[in-house]
Parts: sequence; C-alpha cells; structure tokens
Amino acid sequence: MTTIPHWINGSPVPGADSAPVFNPATGQERARVVLGDAADVDAAVTAAATAFESWSESSLSRRTQVMFAFRQLLVEHEEELARIISAEHGKTVDDARGEITRGREVVEFACGLGDVLKGSFSDQVSRGVDVHDFRQPLGVVAGITPFNFPAMVPLWMHPIAIATGNTFVLKPSERDPSAANFVAELYRRAGLPDGVFNVVHGGKPAVDALLTHPGIEAVSFVGSTPIAKYVHEQATAHGKRVQALGGAKNHAVVLPDADLEFAADHITAGAYGSAGERCMAVSVAVAVGEAADALVEVLARKAREVRVGPGDAPGVEMGPLVTEAARERVENAVGAAASQGATVVVDGRGLKVDDHPECAAGFFIGPSLLDHVTAEMDAYREELFGPVLAVVRAESLDEAIALINANPYGNGTALFTASGEAARRFRRGVKVGMIGINVPVPVPMSYYSFGGWKDSLIGDSPVHGPDGVRFYTRPKVVTTRWPQPAQQRTAAGFDFPTSN
Ligand code: NAD
Repeated sequence: MTTIPHWINGSPVPGADSAPVFNPATGQERARVVLGDAADVDAAVTAAATAFESWSESSLSRRTQVMFAFRQLLVEHEEELARIISAEHGKTVDDARGEITRGREVVEFACGLGDVLKGSFSDQVSRGVDVHDFRQPLGVVAGITPFNFPAMVPLWMHPIAIATGNTFVLKPSERDPSAANFVAELYRRAGLPDGVFNVVHGGKPAVDALLTHPGIEAVSFVGSTPIAKYVHEQATAHGKRVQALGGAKNHAVVLPDADLEFAADHITAGAYGSAGERCMAVSVAVAVGEAADALVEVLARKAREVRVGPGDAPGVEMGPLVTEAARERVENAVGAAASQGATVVVDGRGLKVDDHPECAAGFFIGPSLLDHVTAEMDAYREELFGPVLAVVRAESLDEAIALINANPYGNGTALFTASGEAARRFRRGVKVGMIGINVPVPVPMSYYSFGGWKDSLIGDSPVHGPDGVRFYTRPKVVTTRWPQPAQQRTAAGFDFPTSN
C-alpha cells in the first residue's frame, strides 16, 4: 500500500506514524498518509526560512513567471488531479475539475500581481520632501486546510503568498492528502526553488506545532468554526497574523414572484452538489408566502432525480460522503429532524448504489429534503455538511432576512426573485459576506476577496483578491529628502515635524 509522504525542501520525506486514506465510493483503504509532529514541522519551517532569504530577493517578474508556468501545468494535468481528488474525497470528477478551475483563477490573479502591488507616491508633501509606500512579504507563512476542497482552498492561499515573496508550509486535510503532493510536484516542475512550497501532513499535533512555531509569521485557516476559533486564538497568542474561515449555514430565499422551476433547479444543484460538502452549499431554502407548497413539490421531484454513484462514473451527479463517520452523522441528523417535528419529504438514508456493486460498502446517503423545519430544530441550527436541504417557511422577505441575521453563520446566501427592489433590500439587509441574486452558490471571482461574516470568519481577513495580498504583505511608508542647496534648506526644529 502507498504511503503519502511529507514534501519538504523539494523532496518527499517519510514519517514515523501514519493514518488510512479511504476511497469513499468503495469504503476501501487506498493509501496511508504520514502524520507529522513538531520535528517535521520544524524541518519544513527551517527549509522555508532558508528559501525565503533568496525567494524574497527574487524579482517580481521571476516570481510571476513561475506562476505562469505553474498555471500552464495545472491546465495540462487537470484531469489527473481531478481523478486524485475524486478518489479520496468522493466528489465527481467534473466537480473536481470545477474546483481546480476556480483555484487556477487565483494563480491567474497572482500572475498579474505586478499591477496589484504597485505602491503610491506623493510629490512635495513638504518643501523638498516626497513620500512613497511599498509592501514586503512576511516570511514563512502556513496554510491549514479542510477536506472538502483539497486543491481549491490551498490554491486560495499559496499562489498569492508565494508570488508576493513569502515561503509556504501547507498542512492539508489528512482525509484527502494526495492533491497537496501533486501540486508540490507541479510547482517543482514550474521552476519554484526547493523550500518555497512545503507540505506537512497530519492532524492536531502538526497543527499545534505550526500555531506555536516562532518561525511562522502568519497562518491561513479554512475549516469548521470551532477549529477556526481555536486556530485564531492560539496563533494570535503566539504573535502571528491570522485569517480563519469557519463553517456555514447558507440560506436561499425564494419569493413568490420567482421562477420556481429555475429556483428549484439551482437550489437542488447548490444543495446536493458535492453531496452538500461545500461551505457555500445551500442547506436551507426559505420559502416565502404562497411559494412554499409549490416549491417543496418541485424540490422533492428534483431531489429524487439526482443520480448518485461513484464520482468517476459517467453521468453521476453526486458521490458519497467523505467518511463512514460523516455518513452516520448525517443519517442521524435526518432521524433527529423527524423526531423534532420536521417532515422528511425525501429520505436518503440507507441508499444502495445498485448499479455499482463495487460501492456496496461506500459512504453513500441519498439527497434528503426536510420540510416544516423551524429555527429551533438541530437540523436548522447545526451545520450538517451533507446532502440535506431544510425548508423553512416564512411570511415575508423581512421575516426571511431576520431569520438569516439571527443565524450565527454568515457565509453565503441567495435570493430568487424577479424584483429589483426586493433584491436591493435583501443585499443591503442581510448580515452575510457573499450574496447571490438568482445565483445559488455565489463564490466570488479570484480578484475579489472571499469571506463570510459572523461565525463564518473569525478575525477580520477574508482570503484571496486584494485582501489576500494585504494579508501576505506588510506596508512601508518612506519619507524622503535629498540634500538641497544651502539656501533652500529648511532648518531643523525641535517641535514635532509638520509640513511647510
Ligand atoms: P475541520 O475543521 O475538521 O478541519 C480543518 C483542518 O483543521 C484540517 O486540516 C484538520 O486536520 C485540522 N483540524 C481538525 N481538528 C483539529 C483540532 N482539534 N486541532 C487542530 N487542528 C484540527 O474541517 P473539515 O471537516 O476538514 O472541513 C469542513 C469544514 O470546513 C466545514 O465546517 C466547512 O463549512 C468548512 N469550510 C469553510 C470554508 C469557508 O470558506 N468558510 C471553506 C471550506 C470549508
């Protein structure tokens, strides 16, 4: 059986301990992954610190040239990487291609970094004095990432960190670790010097070593809210800059004037795509007024039509969950919703993938649709992270907005309507970071920043786009005066300097 090693200083590095990596579609162990400890983290940070000395001195054009080459390799190896992701995560190969494309867009943003990094210059702010500013990299920075986007979420981070002159240590999810090593190999082939991009695998011990290591300047985290809070607290206590994105409960509101067939189509895809294991998945549909009964009817029909199977089989729209534990948790949540008074309109529990006998032990659950869910039920309050769509009924748009605002999460939300006035009221009124108008999964383009509000983002820094550049660099402001002829000089004063 293959053991997936760390990647430190441009080479694979073995580890003492390891954990199984499963193919969720078959339920079989497909590889093992090494579990890093403080010594592995220290080796990676030392390599990254040495690499920083020369990488931070390399020219901006050299750094962006590596990004152009890396981008091309991502295009050429998209299929291979998509299959690796599908085999360990369970999502369909097409869905994996989608995450690679969206991640590659951040590389494209990093290719054009020259424009974003331009500083400003103010001439003659005082007599004979000019001011300009510029930004410099931080040093060694770390990324700690979740299982659900093993390529895209790290790609939100490392292209910008590296193109701005930092060196990087990635700690990917231990559930689907292979994509990180594949990306490391592509960087090597793109000409990135050894030590600039490193991968340390593992769980909590590796994370704790990163959060406390004195050689790390900043930590980017994406994952569940409790761990985001922990990472933010620990890393800031150890003097690091932190961006920490957490979990989500995304509401799609459907007004009576919406095209119901269109809304249901998009909500179904947003709820069950990637088996609901997306931080931007639609997990709550808020049916306003008379839209409710008709909407539930169409949603139920569409949920029953979703084609479930292994992610690499043609025509499959939804794969399994990532682990057996995740499948059990989601099945229990559907049961708990029923016992708390929700109507289980479509029940995905116990699904058998009959036409794929190799999947008998896979971690499958079918799309589930719950109706008459209320804000007090666990199915509404908890992030289920599975293919479960909860329908909550509301009397008005204002009631829907109040519901969204009372929810502790604020990652994404969507409104389906034909009314510009309602859309404007909604986008101004909701306490949510990413908003879609007739767009169910409003993931911003790479040149905008990505991040939610409330418990979906701990601290104050979203990822990628302008905020990513700001996060991975520090500003300097320089006030300059060159020697002038004696008659033009201003005398030095003992008062606090002011312009003249
Ligand atoms: P997770 O929080 O369990 O794990 C994330 C990372 O933290 C992994 O690398 C993991 O190894 C590490 N980790 C786990 N437990 C830890 C602990 N006790 N101490 C230290 N480190 C620990 O998340 P997950 O299950 O991999 O991913 C799903 C979660 O991520 C969902 O909550 C989802 O909403 C969230 N997510 C959020 C966004 C966003 O942009 N806001 C994007 C993707 C995923």
